[in-house]
Amino acid sequence: MEKEEHFLEVLITEEEIQKKVASLGEQVSRDYAGSEHLVLIAVLRGSVYFAVDLSRHLTIPYVLDFIGISSYSGGDPLGIVRITKDLDVNIARKNVLLVEDIVDTGLTLNYLLNNLRTRNPLSLRVCIFLDRPARRIVDIPVDYRGFEIPDVFVVGYGLDYNEKYRNLKSIHVLKDKK
Ligand code: 5GP
Repeated sequence: MEKEEHFLEVLITEEEIQKKVASLGEQVSRDYAGSEHLVLIAVLRGSVYFAVDLSRHLTIPYVLDFIGISSYSGGDPLGIVRITKDLDVNIARKNVLLVEDIVDTGLTLNYLLNNLRTRNPLSLRVCIFLDRPARRIVDIPVDYRGFEIPDVFVVGYGLDYNEKYRNLKSIHVLKDKK
């Protein structure tokens, strides 16, 4: 863990986040009303904060599960990701909502979606908290989106920089990232 402090600037406030998450929760609840077997899949670890907050606003039954992946960002520019923790739930014939913190190149979600499709879910939708389209390499079908952001590196609300800043309640731009 590094000791260095960074210069952070608020991009999305806590109030804006809470309002958006509540409205996404209402939207998801409306869309899945009457359908059975909703499985929310949170991608470890960044999206856990968003997924849990989102789930608090759901008025329909659901099961929350987690999938862990090794992030390409530490090294592999080809976007080769690896599952480090698999789902506990069998998603065959279930309605699946994959919840991710941020989509950048789209490589991570593309890999995950292809993987999940092979497990024969009844439906598979994507809910992302942040969308940064500027660096997109693979097109991702996004069903629910929190905020679109410019081409800046962000931390907070689960998003880290070397394991720091996940606990921040707002989204901040890390101005002096090396
Ligand atoms: P993608 O595969 O779409 O390029 O990248 C997605 C993953 O990269 C995210 O799940 C997240 O872990 C990481 N990532 C991408 N952009 C940012 C960012 O601005 N801040 C942080 N903390 N992580 C990011």
